[in-house]
Formats: sequence, C-alpha cells, structure tokens
Amino acid sequence: MYCIKCGSPIDDNAKFCPNCGSPTSAVPSVPPAATYYPSQPQQASQPRQTAQNQTNGCAIAGFVLSFFMPLIGLILSIIGVGKAKECGNGKGLAIAGIVLSSIDIAVFILVVLLVVLPLLVLI
Ligand SMILES: [Zn+2]
Repeated sequence: MYCIKCGSPIDDNAKFCPNCGSPTSAVPSVPPAATYYPSQPQQASQPRQTAQNQTNGCAIAGFVLSFFMPLIGLILSIIGVGKAKECGNGKGLAIAGIVLSSIDIAVFILVVLLVVLPLLVLI
C-alpha cells in the first residue's frame, strides 16, 4: 500500500510511513469515535421524559376511555392515580377520569334499569 500523506510505498504491516512518519491509516481513530458516539445527555434525559409520559399517558387514556368504555377508563384512571402519587404528575386528570367513569357507569346502570327492565316486564 501507499502512504496517505506523501504517497510513498509502505509495507502493509507498517504502522507508520518510513518516509514522512505519518500513520498508515486513519482506522485507529474510528473505534474511539464509535464508542464515544452514544451521547450521555440524551440517555440521562430519556428516563425522566418516559416516566412523565407514562403517568400522563395513563391518566389521559383513562380520561378519554371514560367517555367510551367506562369500566376500562375507570381501571386506567385508578392506575393513573397510583402512578401520579409516585411521580406527582397527572393526578387531577386521573381523578377526573375516575369521576367521569363512575358517572358513566352509574348512567349506564340507570339506562339499563329504566329502559331494559321495563321492556323485559312488558315482554
Ligand atoms: Zn508518508
């Protein structure tokens, strides 16, 4: 092979050019760059962000589901309250989800009692 810097022929096993003394290849500098690549600030910030997203996500999921699927929304909201105690985040939304879910379940039971039961009696 030939020297990168001066172009003079070098032995393939030689680590330095005998003519100019420069390293025969830039390969040794690559592994340190590769190991240095994972940046520490991102790794440090990610767990905090995911923890907040999990708490808010669960509370929001319970809040939204309380409109459509009260039973699942109630369960998710209770989980959201439990996580909110740990992280101190999204507690109000989770409680709102529990209240809304409870109201929806109560309304559902009332509808069943007022609509379905009279129909059964009539039949
Ligand atoms: Zn050279």
